[in-house]
Formats: sequence, C-alpha cells, structure tokens
Amino acid sequence: MKILVFIKQVPNTHEVRVDPKTGTLIREGVPSIINPEDKNALELALQLKEQIKAHTIVATMGPSQAEWSLRESLAMGIDEAYLISDTAFAGSDTLATSLVLAAFAKKIGFDLILTGRQAIDGDTAQVGPEIAEHLQIPHVTYVEKAEFSGDFVKVQRALEDGYEIVKTKLPCLLACSKDLNIPRYMNMNDLFGCFKKTIQTLKLSDLFLKREDVGLTGSPTKVRKTFTKGPRKEGKKIELNPHESAEQIFIELQNRQLV
Ligand SMILES: Cc1cc2nc3c(=O)[nH]c(=O)nc-3n(C[C@H](O)[C@H](O)[C@H](O)COP(=O)(O)OP(=O)(O)OC[C@H]3O[C@@H](n4cnc5c(N)ncnc54)[C@H](O)[C@@H]3O)c2cc1C
Repeated sequence: MKILVFIKQVPNTHEVRVDPKTGTLIREGVPSIINPEDKNALELALQLKEQIKAHTIVATMGPSQAEWSLRESLAMGIDEAYLISDTAFAGSDTLATSLVLAAFAKKIGFDLILTGRQAIDGDTAQVGPEIAEHLQIPHVTYVEKAEFSGDFVKVQRALEDGYEIVKTKLPCLLACSKDLNIPRYMNMNDLFGCFKKTIQTLKLSDLFLKREDVGLTGSPTKVRKTFTKGPRKEGKKIELNPHESAEQIFIELQNRQLV
C-alpha cells in the first residue's frame, strides 16, 4: 500500500501575535512546528508501515524552510519526502493549495491519503476534503479510529455529541484528528538517517498546472482584514433568588427580542 501524508509547517500559535497596525501575523522569531494533527496522520501511516509493510511518503507545499518539517517526518520513520515549492504558489488560498496537492498526488500515485483535520494557523479544515474532491475519491473527516481490511477502511468519525462509523473503499482520504493516536518521537536511527536522504523539490512545471490556476490569481478567497478580538466589556452582575433570576433572564431575552 502506498500512503501519502500531507503535512503543513505552521508557526507555533502559542507564540504568535497580530500586528495591530497592519493586521498581519508577526512571524519573526516564532518557531515553526509540524501542524499537531498532521503528526497524528504521520503516526497512522507509520503504524500501517509496521503492520502491512506500507510505503510511506510525506509532502508539503511551502517555502524552503518547510524542509525541516519533512526531515522531522523522516526522523519519525517516513520513507520518502517531497517539498512542493515555487514562487508561483505564493498567496494560494485553500482551493489553489488543494489543487497543487491533488496534482502532486496524481503524479506520485497513492492508495491512501492522510491529512490533519485542521491547521492551527489557517484553521479552515478545507484542504483535505478539497484534495479529495479534485481527485474524485471518497474522504472522511474527524477520524478518531481507523481499521483497515483488504480494500476497505472502517472509520470512527467524531461528531459533536457522539460518533458515527463510516466504511469506505480505498483509494480514499482520511483527515486525522488528535484523538486517533499518540504520535511517536523521532527515533535515533532515523534521526541520523534523515540527513542522508534526499528531499525532492517539485515546481509548478513538474505538476502540469497552469500558472493562473495557482497563487493569488487562482485564489477566489480574498482576506479583507485580520484582527485580534479585544477584551469584552464587563458584564452586569445581579444577585437574585432562583425564581427571580429566571424571571429576570426572561425579561432580558424579551428586551433583546430573543423570545
Ligand atoms: C488570499 C489568500 C492568500 C494566502 N496567501 C498565503 C501565502 O502566501 N502563504 C501561506 O503560507 N499561506 C497563505 N494563505 C493561507 C493558505 O491558503 C492556507 O494556509 C492554506 O490553504 C491551508 O489552509 P488551512 O491553513 O486552513 O489548512 P486546513 O485546511 O485547516 O488544513 C487541513 C490539512 O490539510 C493539509 N495541508 C494544509 N495546507 C497544506 C500545505 N500547504 N501543504 C501540505 N499539506 C497541507 C494538512 O494536512 C492540514 O492538517 C493565503 C490564504 C488566502 C485566503
């Protein structure tokens, strides 16, 4: 089985601040990490490698610094790594990003694609399902358990108040959540080995895409403004007995035309 894992290098959001004047992220001095739920996708790929001798490939679309996240994946035990990088991709929104990643998947071939559920910076959770739509394969999101049997996978998918079981045929895409597994650390052998492996870089021309379909021109989403929410105004505190409280809440809701 050939497993393709897409990972995104993200700024460690615990340390990110927004410039109040420009509304853009202050990235200087902020360390980058592999998006946390992408590590759950890597862990699932590695478990399948051990169980059924799957061949595992990791890829990311990003600037040259994103190579570090690929090296870290190799150090965890992933077999092959690709950096998809071209100035033509700059400014891509989720649609353009997923188009590029789907073109890569088509080129390289796959039986299973794994992504994280959501990236902690862009936060849209759109890229996984969009890749699957471009490739016209089934996808399952919020994956918290996956059991493989022949050409099928039985998935437990988290819902707000429970879960559902979905069975689908390979090839398919699974967007992995943090509850799926506990990602392993890099191991000593692969940590040394990861620097000997070649990371192949692919450009626009390698993927047979048109320049106008990627980057800013291929992106229908326009970001108008980014801002940090200010602190909320102090609320009103009223101390009443339970009966009076219920009455008061009802009056407040009526005043706001909510009942
Ligand atoms: C107009 C516009 C311009 C933008 N310009 C830029 C820009 O110049 N540079 C920039 O970095 N971002 C840019 N972005 C943000 C970029 O579109 C998103 O970060 C990206 O499309 C992924 O969306 P997300 O972060 O919401 O990922 P999600 O959809 O939340 O990610 C889900 C999963 O998809 C996979 N995934 C997501 N992105 C990648 C990737 N790049 N490579 C491999 N796997 C991935 C991961 O497995 C991830 O866990 C721009 C966005 C807009 C709207």
